[in-house]
Amino acid sequence: MDNFLTKWNEVLKDMENLVTAVSYDLYIETLEPIKVENNRLVLLASTATTKKQLLKLHKEKLLSTVQNHFDNVDDIIVLDPTEKDSFLEDVKEAEKILETEQVLNEKNKLNEKYTFENFVVGKSNQIVYSAAINVSKNPGKNFNPLFIYGGVGLGKTHLLHAIGNYIRKNNKTIKLLYVTCEQFMNAFTKALKEKNIEAFRQRYREVDVLMVDDIQFISNKTGTQEEFFHTFNDLYQNNKQIILASDKHPRNIEALEERLRSRFAGGLIQDIQKPDFETRLAILQKKVEIENYTVDSDVLEYLAEKIDTNIRELEGNLNKVVSLSILIGKNNATMLEAEEALRDITSSQAQNLTIDKIMDVVCNYYKVKKVDLVGKKKNKEIVDPRQICIYLITELIDVPLMTIGNAFGGRDHTTIMHARDKIAQNIKVDKSLKTNVEDLIAMIKSDN
Ligand code: ADP
Ligand code: MG
Repeated sequence: MDNFLTKWNEVLKDMENLVTAVSYDLYIETLEPIKVENNRLVLLASTATTKKQLLKLHKEKLLSTVQNHFDNVDDIIVLDPTEKDSFLEDVKEAEKILETEQVLNEKNKLNEKYTFENFVVGKSNQIVYSAAINVSKNPGKNFNPLFIYGGVGLGKTHLLHAIGNYIRKNNKTIKLLYVTCEQFMNAFTKALKEKNIEAFRQRYREVDVLMVDDIQFISNKTGTQEEFFHTFNDLYQNNKQIILASDKHPRNIEALEERLRSRFAGGLIQDIQKPDFETRLAILQKKVEIENYTVDSDVLEYLAEKIDTNIRELEGNLNKVVSLSILIGKNNATMLEAEEALRDITSSQAQNLTIDKIMDVVCNYYKVKKVDLVGKKKNKEIVDPRQICIYLITELIDVPLMTIGNAFGGRDHTTIMHARDKIAQNIKVDKSLKTNVEDLIAMIKSDN
């Protein structure tokens, strides 16, 4: 706690230099820091009016100052006194959910909400849905392995759990194991360390259905790949069903042994696509029904229209809208809360960012020429800004990797992907890079 308050005092000190004395006295010094929750710093303003003014005048400055002192914070939440109690209640609720999820994972239990009944079928996922149903009814028969791949938040985990829930309900004799790739890896490493590899092998090889989620994480893990290869063969030869989910097609999983790649491709590889508007709307309606929310119907249409990235985002924003309406004591969520909830998204769309604009800011920041930025030079002084620029574009605007490649002198999409992933990785360990990137984002966003 001490540490928490010390950091807050440092924020105060910095802010004193960043805003006028009047602003500081009125809006900043009066804030009461509450806690860091879910990477957000929660602050209490003295009144609703000071909260409003603070957010209007100094939100960006405060956020970036907070981020300078709190490593793990990526947003701030300012409450007014009337909102405090219900917010903290909500947080408790969310923490409970998180705990249950962890327990579920440890005990190899499945999320009972992830069923076929709760899965909305549309053009984007109908084939993979049929395959999942088929495998649930005839495990080990038709599609082995079933390999499901697609972007984040599109329903892969939901489908694996749905298969599991279906089988457990309809055939209690079938032994089924659901693990994430990470759990498989950890169990394997632990077994090696504790010298009980036999028990490990037995656990994985005695099942009738093995599901491994996020199998792409096996990339680069030579030992685990070797072990998984043998597990796979053992199960396969005994007609046991294997189901894998990944965010990439096997051919795009880097550093994957060829023999595993070809095993993965030996059954059915099926992708899951982004849902279209009708499906997005149907998913929201389903969610409202499951959670017993009261939401105006124009709100659902608005959300389905604005959020086309993935289903997790869609659900997250629906929850946000409902929480907002509860916070202000309403019985049903209306367009007012929806617009408030989506303000960040719509304002970044309205900013009309372009690749060119981001390049300009980066060139200016690192003092490099645009011809060099998009050119072939390979010295660090150019390569670093180039990769950072690529990363920023992928973070800030929604354009295909190929388009970005073209803007960078015809590089192909894997080069773009590589640059993006490299910076994303480096930011986690390199604090000064992180600060630079944050500076750049702030500049790009204010530069219009
Ligand atoms: P992934 O594993 O592909 O990243 P998840 O399976 O975790 O995605 O899905 C993210 C969220 O979206 C989950 O809450 C899930 O229930 C929901 N979801 C995904 N697809 C659908 C669908 N077709 N119908 C209903 N809910 C869905
Ligand atoms: Mg998943």
